[in-house]
Amino acid sequence: MGNVTFKINKYEYTMKKGITILDASFETMKFAKEYLQQPIPTLYYLKGVTDIDESGVCVVEVEGKVVNASTTRVKEGMEILTNTPAVMAARKEALARILANHNKSCLYCLRSGSCELQELLHEYGFTDEPELPKTDLQQLDLSSKVLARDNNKCIKCKRCINVCAKMQAVSAITAWGEGLDILVTPASPKGLAASSCVNCGQCVAVCPVGALTEIDNTDAVKKALDDPDQYVVAQVAPAVRAALGEAFEFPIGVDVEGRIAEALHRAGFDKVFDTKFGADLTIMEEAQELIHRIQREGVLPMITSCCPGWVKYAEHFYPDMLDHISTCKSPHQMQGAIVKSYIAANEGVKKENIVMVSVMPCTAKKFEITRDDECGAGVPDVDIVITTNELAKLLKEKEIQLEAMNPKAKFDDPLGQGSGAGVIFGAAGGVMEAALRTVVEKLSGKTLEKLDFTEVRGMNGIKEAAVEVDGTVIKVAAASGLANANALLTRVKAGEADYQFIEIMACPGGCVNGGGQPHQPAAVRALNNVPALRAQALYQNDVCSQVRKSHENPAIKEIYAKFLGEAGGERAHQLLHTSYVVR
Ligand code: SF4
Ligand code: SF4
Ligand code: SF4
Repeated sequence: MGNVTFKINKYEYTMKKGITILDASFETMKFAKEYLQQPIPTLYYLKGVTDIDESGVCVVEVEGKVVNASTTRVKEGMEILTNTPAVMAARKEALARILANHNKSCLYCLRSGSCELQELLHEYGFTDEPELPKTDLQQLDLSSKVLARDNNKCIKCKRCINVCAKMQAVSAITAWGEGLDILVTPASPKGLAASSCVNCGQCVAVCPVGALTEIDNTDAVKKALDDPDQYVVAQVAPAVRAALGEAFEFPIGVDVEGRIAEALHRAGFDKVFDTKFGADLTIMEEAQELIHRIQREGVLPMITSCCPGWVKYAEHFYPDMLDHISTCKSPHQMQGAIVKSYIAANEGVKKENIVMVSVMPCTAKKFEITRDDECGAGVPDVDIVITTNELAKLLKEKEIQLEAMNPKAKFDDPLGQGSGAGVIFGAAGGVMEAALRTVVEKLSGKTLEKLDFTEVRGMNGIKEAAVEVDGTVIKVAAASGLANANALLTRVKAGEADYQFIEIMACPGGCVNGGGQPHQPAAVRALNNVPALRAQALYQNDVCSQVRKSHENPAIKEIYAKFLGEAGGERAHQLLHTSYVVR
């Protein structure tokens, strides 16, 4: 294709022909030059989601003309200027246009501090704007238990529409009209809850402003913590430790496991557990179920069930495949059921007085706790779900600074002990790898020489592996992102693939990229593979773990010996398994 040589702000670069000015500008940020300090602003563009930025802020000057940097391609000899008076005036005009249609109640907005519009408004001097809501307010869409939609803040970038349709193959959000006059709405006129939305929160993750947010449950947590009659227990999912630091200015991909444990103790929780234990429990039950299906000619391929976004997707779009899905509850539901039974008895606390709070990277878990058949001990397994973002908000409100916490602090025993297999659940392919470590050893009766199943690691949307156990080959696949899951299942249904075991995670890259994880702006996402950096922290955590197989976790052995009995046995089934419905 060849290269072109051009200048940005008088610095010369050579790059591949056909690149847009915007992409070229991101490339230049890899060089240590003055230009790095001020990337071309964007509001609509997001790598992999929305290519064209028509917000009006993504402009530069070329040959005396102001042009759109996301649609203009670099040419040989081109001289690009990113901050001339004409460019700055055009950007300010565009921001004023957007602001005229925006509810400026930043003070009360969940996205305040991580809002891409707010950031630009500060940068371009809109500091004396009154913080007043619009008078002609559109009604909020609060129909969903998971997501809130506020069209008064929507800047019409269509990132949510693109992510929902192209990456998630759901199309629960749509738009009417053109340009700034479009109206972004749910596919159902009755609101998001009446659509086929699977609550994955990917639309929330890409929304640049506060128009789409998770429902904030931090007040319910604070109320429980303030109530002396409640025994408030927290559990923390693996992926949270790889991302919470970002909300406290840590670099992307720093594992803050110990700091979270201490922060939650300081916040006043009676017990602080690690959902790694629940992940190990899931592996014990899932491995047993898979072995049973393989040996007794049960329904195959068996598909994982730990992602509630995927489960709801299957209930809407693959109702004929529900018997392929493992009956295992997701790790935090299993852990909640154990807390309300085993821990309640051990601690002498009434299960009705326990408030189980799950801290998750995931918005779909907010829906999952309301599903039928998630009350193993006769009371809800989990009472409240807050996301990583909500935990950051809670800690900040309580003036608990993560950087001041002890990085070596521990979760409480016995449910704080998890294996390395449990921690990699947070990365796409991690559930499969954790399961294989147990399934292969149980089927062969031999110790695995190599624990790393690298074929199912990484950020590819679909990964496959074939594992030989005593002359029998087990074929497995892992898909993340529901459009990828859709493609994989289409092949399975057409008889073009003969896997025995499939992992499906709704969010591209898995829970590390969940809808409740900290937001990173477009320029950061253009330059970094954020989910991959977070996943790396989990694989490192696994390598450093004393126990790397779920079935070798001493706390797991103890709970089966003292309380649960056999994996897949009667008590385990009552507490740890669930059922699905056609939607
Ligand atoms: S939560 Fe997921 S399925 Fe629902 S609208 Fe957003 S992207 Fe679509
Ligand atoms: S809701 Fe958010 S992501 Fe969707 S169009 Fe509006 S501003 Fe963009
Ligand atoms: S991939 Fe993880 S974060 Fe995303 S919906 Fe599924 S369980 Fe939730």
